[in-house]
Amino acid sequence: MAQHVETLVIGAGPAGLTTAYTLAKAGRGVTVLEMDPVYVGGISRTVDYKGFKFDIGGHRFFSKSKEVVDLWNEILPDDFIDRPRLSRIYYREKFYAYPLKAFEALANLGIWTATQCMASFGWAKARPIKDPTTFHQWVRNQFGEKLFSIFFKTYTEKVWGMSCDEISADWASQRIKGLDLAAAIIDGVKRSLGVRAKVTAEGAPKTLIESFRYPRKGPGMMWEACADKILALGGQLRMGRKVEGLHYDKVTRLWTVDVTRADGTKETYTADDVVSSAPLRELMQAVSPTPISLFHAGELMYRDFITVVLIGKPQKELPDNWIYIHDPSVKVGRVQNFRSWSPEMIPDGVSTCLGLEYFCFEGDGLWISKDEDLVAQAKREIAKIGLMNPDEVYDACVVRQHKAYPVYDDSYAEHIRMIRLDLKMHFPGLHLVGRNGMHKYNNQDHAMMTGLLTAENIIAGETIHDVWDVNEDAEYGEAGVSGAREALSSVRAVPQKVAA
Ligand SMILES: Cc1cc2nc3c(=O)[nH]c(=O)nc-3n(C[C@H](O)[C@H](O)[C@H](O)COP(=O)(O)OP(=O)(O)OC[C@H]3O[C@@H](n4cnc5c(N)ncnc54)[C@H](O)[C@@H]3O)c2cc1C
Repeated sequence: MAQHVETLVIGAGPAGLTTAYTLAKAGRGVTVLEMDPVYVGGISRTVDYKGFKFDIGGHRFFSKSKEVVDLWNEILPDDFIDRPRLSRIYYREKFYAYPLKAFEALANLGIWTATQCMASFGWAKARPIKDPTTFHQWVRNQFGEKLFSIFFKTYTEKVWGMSCDEISADWASQRIKGLDLAAAIIDGVKRSLGVRAKVTAEGAPKTLIESFRYPRKGPGMMWEACADKILALGGQLRMGRKVEGLHYDKVTRLWTVDVTRADGTKETYTADDVVSSAPLRELMQAVSPTPISLFHAGELMYRDFITVVLIGKPQKELPDNWIYIHDPSVKVGRVQNFRSWSPEMIPDGVSTCLGLEYFCFEGDGLWISKDEDLVAQAKREIAKIGLMNPDEVYDACVVRQHKAYPVYDDSYAEHIRMIRLDLKMHFPGLHLVGRNGMHKYNNQDHAMMTGLLTAENIIAGETIHDVWDVNEDAEYGEAGVSGAREALSSVRAVPQKVAA
């Protein structure tokens, strides 16, 4: 017998929980179904391993949207800490401050390479590639070929698992927007001279964000508190439930949703509205009648992510929050130092807990490696980088994250356009929110804003906001969204090669 719910939300990540919280506050009926049996928060969860806490990647809380910041403060009024941000780049056995310090970078690169960088920058400006379509072309136009090869190519290819010639220029322009080399050099010189830039919450240049807010026990703390609030307001949250089928009846305008529980048993729900933060490819494959855009959904691609956590004694004191590993001789892409995110992530107060992040595709060699092999590889690589002695690693674990990144290849935008058209014409009442839900490479603040606007649409009973106008850089297009709302911006301190 099917249970009827007013709004059924797929996924208890930031987008799904924000939708549910907004609906519950308005007194509307809402049920969230989450396939994970234990954790809420989705990619923004905090994993607990024997009391050691860590994120899937480190999650900074930054938004220019007052609404999002207000929501964070409302959900977690007493538990934010301000953390200094320190990150470096490791490249060919040297560490570079990030953002770059001009004199240090010059000294590390050597005068010959530095001169080559400036010459190739000048050449790129004098002879730009017209209408760049790839990541490589776009970055080369902005920074020159030499800087591209040192500070963009290796890391970007580790993250995406494809050549920079295959990655769309859209991605580059979106992620690297706002960084100009002249400004970076001036900033770098100031940094070298020890002049610290004034950081303001709004409009601060991307490279200058030197501290960030963080829940003292990691981002999962935010989403656990949000889940509690939803329950207190009368909403429902059901864990260990995977949505596997969604049928739309255009006569009754009702959705029938088939769910498999963690123990293999089945449940069925009916709903007036369904809000989905599940990966768009899987969602469309679960919808019936068969969507005409099914082919397009099947073409969407994702990048997966493994964290190998090493717990032990550090080889040397490590102040960084994270280190980008540009060095091509190791597979690890980034190293997180969870104690620098919050001391409360470390239960004994003395151990070091490093997360070695590997970007991969589900099913590839890394993904299917046994955990013990991944740990052995991580130990070898951390020793090579010089951060930990493998003999002093006394515990380790591996966490795999499916679909950490929606991939922006050169055809994704067209596939999304076709899916949106199909949903608009044939499946009213199915709302897409969040990162994989909308196939948008975004941060929590964007995911939350899409959830908030979707809930407001449902409450209004009509589309008063076009949720697609919240873009990945979390700025609104003017059309469609109230100008009263402040532009969101997922300002990043490390715009030129971020993998959030
Ligand atoms: C390495 C990394 C670092 C990041 N760093 C930052 C950062 O510093 N700051 C920041 O703000 N953001 C950061 N992000 C982005 C942030 O994690 C995401 O923007 C955010 O989690 C997206 O929220 P969401 O609700 O859209 O999706 P998700 O977090 O993916 O949540 C979706 C939920 O839906 C569930 N689900 C999926 N399919 C089904 C189904 N069929 N049935 C039931 N449940 C289902 C999933 O289990 C999951 O819990 C980072 C991301 C990564 C990968």
